[in-house]
Amino acid sequence: MSANYRPETICIQSGWKPQKGEPRVLPIYQSTTYKYDNSDQMGRLFDLEESGYFYTRLQNPTNDAVASKITELEGGIAGMLTSSGQAANYYAVFNICEAGDHFICSNSVYGGTFNLFGTTMKKQGISCTFIDPDASDEEIEAAFLPNTKAVFAETISNPSLVVLDIERFAAIAHKHGVPLIIDNTFATPINCRPFEWGADIVTHSTTKYMDGHAMSVGGAIIDSGNFDWMAHKDKFPGLTTPDESYHGIIYAEKFGKMAFIQKATAQLMRDLGSIQSPQNAFLLNVGLETLHLRMPRHCENALKVSEYLEKHEKVAWVNYAGLKSNKYHALAEKYMPNGTCGVISFGLRGGRDVSVAFMDKLKLAAIVTHVADARTCVLHPASHTHRQMTDAQLIEAGVAPDLIRFSVGIEHAEDIITDLEQALAAI
Ligand SMILES: *Cc1c(COP(=O)(O)O)cnc(C)c1O
Repeated sequence: MSANYRPETICIQSGWKPQKGEPRVLPIYQSTTYKYDNSDQMGRLFDLEESGYFYTRLQNPTNDAVASKITELEGGIAGMLTSSGQAANYYAVFNICEAGDHFICSNSVYGGTFNLFGTTMKKQGISCTFIDPDASDEEIEAAFLPNTKAVFAETISNPSLVVLDIERFAAIAHKHGVPLIIDNTFATPINCRPFEWGADIVTHSTTKYMDGHAMSVGGAIIDSGNFDWMAHKDKFPGLTTPDESYHGIIYAEKFGKMAFIQKATAQLMRDLGSIQSPQNAFLLNVGLETLHLRMPRHCENALKVSEYLEKHEKVAWVNYAGLKSNKYHALAEKYMPNGTCGVISFGLRGGRDVSVAFMDKLKLAAIVTHVADARTCVLHPASHTHRQMTDAQLIEAGVAPDLIRFSVGIEHAEDIITDLEQALAAI
């Protein structure tokens, strides 16, 4: 679709482009397989000589239509859907790192990502150094090793809400000849497009704002096409030397700027699975059609709620980059001038136990292991998502033991505040 369309129009119109007589609405291609007229046609697909569908574990037309919409929203060149955000982050890193490799990651990433990178991938021989995203250039550069292959961070970290200085991170990564991978889940491309600031690859947990209604778990990987794998040939043999499992194809030579997503699809999806179900992709697409309407409302409500909490005597601290008093306000203004996200965090005077008691008093805001959807919800990371972490690890990850993660929905702001008011009065 024309590169001139604005995000609002892309949300609605992009992706599925029906031809004459085809369904106006994106169809769910509920089919594992695809028919061909002769054996040779099918053979060429397996040789990657022609593009086409043959098995849904690798590609499905419903998924591809939705991936192309997200790709356009991000301003990327190619994209793919995955079964979850976890799969997206795993594939994004594993597509370039092999056993014996190393990468660098912000220490304030989502707990699931922290476990995946720090524990599970370590068992596969891929090591990760976690760094403070606010550390100096020198400190971050000191983490690079000869076998470092990537830098990873979140635009706005979940749940510590650190705003990343994307341009600075891109410069550091590129100085060391490696790509910057950004998990853009919380900002969404409506509020931030990391490629415009030098990021090379973007990932999403589409489970959050993109789906927007807490209906389906999913993920996406989008490539900018900007990273020159061949310029760093020795670092990225998976992309720059023959793939024996694909008749000796060299992805970066054969597919040029499309190499990253081609490899992740042809090799990782083929071997590891983790495709998004077309049914879920259909629901994700419905969510994407209103992303541009929902994000501003989430931000507007979150600002009102955080301003209310900031003034409340029982509240010890509030963290929301939209607040002028926030440490990350200037970075947020630079990277997300229209707002950051609907997620805020705060702590109550009296600490951990008071926080737990307060949550139990909420009526409108539900306690759920979820974040970033239309309904206001709340979670205590130290008791829930991050409960496997020690207090020291929590603090290192920017998650205070008393931190309440409050995901502000798109209800009327006054109703959300009234709910907070009654719960605060009850403790
Ligand atoms: C939720 C989340 C993930 C993991 O995504 P799932 O879809 O739950 O697998 C990754 N990154 C961020 C920032 C998240 O919020």
